[in-house]
Amino acid sequence: MADDDCLFCRILAGEVPADVVRETGLSLAFRDITPQAPTHVLVIPRRHVANLAELAEYPGELADAVSLARSVAEEERHDGTAVADEGYRLVANTGSRAHQTVFHAHLHLLGGRDLGWPPG
Ligand code: 5GP
Ligand code: ZN
Repeated sequence: MADDDCLFCRILAGEVPADVVRETGLSLAFRDITPQAPTHVLVIPRRHVANLAELAEYPGELADAVSLARSVAEEERHDGTAVADEGYRLVANTGSRAHQTVFHAHLHLLGGRDLGWPPG
């Protein structure tokens, strides 16, 4: 199931270090190495699938990832306010034109600043 060539599988295996924020039996949340906002956490399923659309074949794991993102948003605080209360964004870049660079499904949780819309 794990893909030896996949960066996020290597993080899950403990072969590549990551700043883990929270985890469940099905999902892992860790800080993005190049944060684009005060909170920028990646939430990934432990299962190796290429993108969120493929993760939809495993509804329990998809729900777990979204629920873990919610928990992180409730815990992350900036100036005393939880990201969940201020508003945050969950993004799943899918495919190269949408700037997906790691082909293991992941949600970007972005918060802690005003987020523009539409994204660039
Ligand atoms: P994508 O572009 O595929 O939507 O998102 C991949 C994300 O993974 C990028 O935001 C990138 O900064 C992050 N990333 C790439 N390599 C590493 C790494 O080794 N560790 C961590 N924590 N994040 C990484
Ligand atoms: Zn993987």
